[in-house]
Amino acid sequence: MAVRVRYAPSPTGSPHVGNLRTAIFDWLTARKYGGQFIARLEDTDRDPERYKPEYINEIERSLDWLGIVPDEWWVSGGPYGPYVQSERLELYRTAASAMVDTGKAYPCFCDEERLAELRQANRRGGAATGYDRACRALPETERQRRLEAGEPHTIRLAVPDDEIIEYTDLIYGHVSVHSSTMDDQVILKSNGWPTYHLAVVVDDHAMGITHVIRGEDWMSSLPKQALIYAALGWEQPRWAHIPLTLGPDRKKLSKRHGATRFTEFIDAGYLPEAIFNFLVLLGWSSGSDNVEIMSVEEIVERFTLEGIGRTPAIFDYDKLIWMNSEHLKRCPIERLMHLCLPHLAAAGLCGHELQADEIAYLQQALPLAVERMRLLPDVVDQAGYFLRDPQEPEEKGRNKWLNGEPARARLRASIVACSSMVDDWTALRLEAMVNAVAEGLGIARAPLIHTLRVATSGRTVGPGLFEMLEVLGRTRVIRRLKHAISWVQE
Ligand code: GLU
Repeated sequence: MAVRVRYAPSPTGSPHVGNLRTAIFDWLTARKYGGQFIARLEDTDRDPERYKPEYINEIERSLDWLGIVPDEWWVSGGPYGPYVQSERLELYRTAASAMVDTGKAYPCFCDEERLAELRQANRRGGAATGYDRACRALPETERQRRLEAGEPHTIRLAVPDDEIIEYTDLIYGHVSVHSSTMDDQVILKSNGWPTYHLAVVVDDHAMGITHVIRGEDWMSSLPKQALIYAALGWEQPRWAHIPLTLGPDRKKLSKRHGATRFTEFIDAGYLPEAIFNFLVLLGWSSGSDNVEIMSVEEIVERFTLEGIGRTPAIFDYDKLIWMNSEHLKRCPIERLMHLCLPHLAAAGLCGHELQADEIAYLQQALPLAVERMRLLPDVVDQAGYFLRDPQEPEEKGRNKWLNGEPARARLRASIVACSSMVDDWTALRLEAMVNAVAEGLGIARAPLIHTLRVATSGRTVGPGLFEMLEVLGRTRVIRRLKHAISWVQE
């Protein structure tokens, strides 16, 4: 069987990080089992308070950023299109009327006023707010008469009175629900638009979806959808509901905990592969060795649907930052350059277009800077001093390592030593130079190293001093050492 999975976002809110996590699991399943990944836009909820076309752009931007390209979707089309529900209304109407014909659904003429009264009465009685099935009991002749008269009506699902609805979820196992707990849900609204349950079933069937993989919050809609499948005589797909992500306090992940909109993570400067890695590990375990940092290819290699657990996963923001820093360190230098350049340019540290020598310099500096970066914008802080001579040293560095005559003597001796190093400006040679200068001054290496670091970078912490000096280069180092003499305080 050719696997076909779908991601079915609704443009009724900025895409949530949990929603993209579902897309990742869908995509992974398709890749792993050699199937097709389909994206379908579920845009039947047109409440102007919720529906906004810009959310469609955000969905597209998020998928694109993750590197997840659907095999079939509304952007590139495909053999089962259109992939936008508002362009498929006829299909839902046909399905609804087929269900009416077989008695699995019925027209409901109750107006909003009556339904509101019913809800109120239900609330007063403390009962579940279900529909009282008044129109289901209408005599056939009356029903026909009212339909012919063109009376506005919805179509409701005729839930059987006494039936056990059963299905198997690949993650949660066998589930059964008694039909008496279910409401006669509206499947087609009076304006001819479907509700979610009908549209999703019709489309998943029509698009040949074999596996419905989605968030656990959709588990409760499964019995209704199972009934619609049965009513239409269609075979159900396989179901896999993915446990929800919770905040560190074990409550549903929300704004209170931190960023939740996917685009916030893009804009914050995470790497797509880090977000991908992190989201996959929320609920899925990589195997007995519990490897955590993985490339997308490694994840595809290791992925199985069975590896998804049932326990809700905790969204640990600190862990995400750590993962991002690990992925940054593994990022190939050309790509790192490409990703960092806009940040450096925006901070005025370099131009948007670099000369060959600037590229070569940054290619050496970035691997040192990246060791201390957590997010992409950190490059400004961590690589800035490679590009621009520090104007002022850090206060605590000056207080500790740039004091009086001893500091001046360290700087002068180092300037002399560096000036004599005409060739072979390497970390190894620089280390020997520092050892010799310390010996000549009759001091330990440590104070000299600290003084040189503050003098050449303005900072007290950074990469290994000798590697840093090698990258900065002789001219820059000597210039900075000379300038640092003016920083020395009495
Ligand atoms: N349109 C639903 C959503 O916004 C899809 C639910 C499903 O996957 O069935 O998430």
